[in-house]
Amino acid sequence: MTAAESPDIRQLQGESLPAGDFPVGGKQDYRVFFAPAVHEKIWKHASENVALEICGVLVGNWQRDAVGPFVTITDFIRCDSAKSGFAEVTFTHESWTKINAEMDTRLSAFKIVGWYHSHPDFGIFLSDRDIFIHQHFFSGAGQIAHVVDPVRKIEGVFAWQAGGPVLRPHFWVGERVFVTPDRPPPEKWDAVRDRLAGTERHLGQVRQTYSLTPEEQAVVKDVVQELVNLVERESKSQRKAAGADEKSGQSAKKITGDDKRKGDDKPERGKKKSAPPAIKSDDGPPKSGDKTSPAKE
Ligand SMILES: [Zn+2]
Repeated sequence: MTAAESPDIRQLQGESLPAGDFPVGGKQDYRVFFAPAVHEKIWKHASENVALEICGVLVGNWQRDAVGPFVTITDFIRCDSAKSGFAEVTFTHESWTKINAEMDTRLSAFKIVGWYHSHPDFGIFLSDRDIFIHQHFFSGAGQIAHVVDPVRKIEGVFAWQAGGPVLRPHFWVGERVFVTPDRPPPEKWDAVRDRLAGTERHLGQVRQTYSLTPEEQAVVKDVVQELVNLVERESKSQRKAAGADEKSGQSAKKITGDDKRKGDDKPERGKKKSAPPAIKSDDGPPKSGDKTSPAKE
């Protein structure tokens, strides 16, 4: 793969890829397609024990059609030797031995097109550690990171853009388009911060309306500062709990993926705001591709 320094899916444009037909319709600069059986098995793997983070590699091929490059994921290799527990997933030497052995034999016609791992109940993002793994083992321009949260029933696919893994707006599982909302639902502490800003304005008015003594003003200022600190602490602990790292910028945002999975149509989402439903195209005759694609980039 070219340009390991700053991988980007646009680099695939310059690569010679075999011609192929994207299994379903759809226009997007880089399309990601999961064979439904593989997608189902990845979810099964992730759901086996939600106390553990699990991981594995995605296997398939890159191809090109008139729209552009795309990747089809038609197999996977689970890494049972990956050390889990409360520690984050990792690809051990043994994992790679197993992966390479399978790639050299059973899967020799295919390529490692990315990896998947689970985030049981902590949402869809890539941690610093995940980004490290992605950069070191999956830095090919078209290689993706698939994150599954088997507790919240959400998932997302990240692809390289300008050297960083970025959440794709949608991907395909069979004929179904899985839509990722443009924006993550606002986090709780954002609302608190907004309210606090309002309180601060209000206190400013109070200070002006009632001519307070410097001492009284100092008390008001202290109270506001106390509130600001409280919100900061709260937001930090929430972020920590979510496993997100504030420093890791673009890709560490907590983003809710589409959570409509096959056989999982119960609105069992707790208090979380509903994500837009997946656009299902398997209810009727397959529509022409472009119509099933809600957004063109
Ligand atoms: Zn992770």
